[in-house]
Amino acid sequence: MPEPGAGSLAGSARPAAGAGVVVGVDLGGTKTAAALVAADGSPGPVHTAPTPAASGPEAVLDAVAALVTRVVTASGAPLRAVGVGAAGVIDAGRGVVVSATETFRDWPGTDVAGGLAARLAPLVAGPSASGSSAVAPLVVVENDVDAHAAGEAWRGAAAGARSALLVAVGTGVGGSVVLDGRPLRGAHHLAGEIGHAPVPGAEGLRCACGRPGHLEAVAAGPAIHRRYLALGGDPASPDARDVVARAGAGDELAARVVREAGAAVGRAVAGVVTVLDPEVVVVGGGVGGAGHLWWSALEGALRGEVVDVLADLPVLRAVLGDDAAVVGAARNAWSALGAAAPTAGRE
Ligand SMILES: [Zn+2]
Repeated sequence: MPEPGAGSLAGSARPAAGAGVVVGVDLGGTKTAAALVAADGSPGPVHTAPTPAASGPEAVLDAVAALVTRVVTASGAPLRAVGVGAAGVIDAGRGVVVSATETFRDWPGTDVAGGLAARLAPLVAGPSASGSSAVAPLVVVENDVDAHAAGEAWRGAAAGARSALLVAVGTGVGGSVVLDGRPLRGAHHLAGEIGHAPVPGAEGLRCACGRPGHLEAVAAGPAIHRRYLALGGDPASPDARDVVARAGAGDELAARVVREAGAAVGRAVAGVVTVLDPEVVVVGGGVGGAGHLWWSALEGALRGEVVDVLADLPVLRAVLGDDAAVVGAARNAWSALGAAAPTAGRE
């Protein structure tokens, strides 16, 4: 895969304006992934490193900068821009963390964009230049679920669609609305966060945000496991994956919990699509691959609740897997550079 702009480096110690590589970063609570992503959305090899989330923001930014440095150095080209999808509520306009769960110590208020731009400035001049560059790379930051959704909209299940709702169901429940390739940010940096939507079936169940009755409290993986145990399920069951496996193998209680979790997602999606009328719905995340019982409950609840014109709304599985947020974060960087096609689809 040729690197964008790499040809302009020939015979020159310093990059021409606009030359260099773009790196996408998926900054998660336990692991960070990064890769070069070309202007057409194709990713290079993905490099990963543990995220020292409990060690505070400086340690996290140091680790991310080290990982990006590894990716850029391996390319032999100068760095042009970095797109980051980060856990937490992110002010994408400033690249600053608004709020986050306790996984990340002291994460709220962290200037991710500024902290990374300063750390990565030496890479802008390229490996063949001596001394440090006075110019910092462009660094843009968004919420990781928004990055995931942008990746699926660019190169994945929603490629070619003008509008999409992505729902990611895993250890939490996240969501994002993508319009013309760009995630809707919202007035309070919260657009698409379907996990904190009130939903029938979650009454009295406490959400990770502290409030009762939200979708995440009944539909996330840990909620499925907790609920199975609370209703008298086998105490030897270690996690949601096991509950889903038991449901598929005929455990009636497990099946009920999995069905109700899937139906809760379907009802919440019904509410959102009725308001937004997206072209497609894409469902991803660890629980999002939870098998036929969960999917049929989701689709049954969704199609049972929406008006007739939405009856055939496509509900698709996410296809990019772990690469989605890396690709989508880079999409944001290419877009900020003015280089990405607004609605580029798959070949
Ligand atoms: Zn909540």
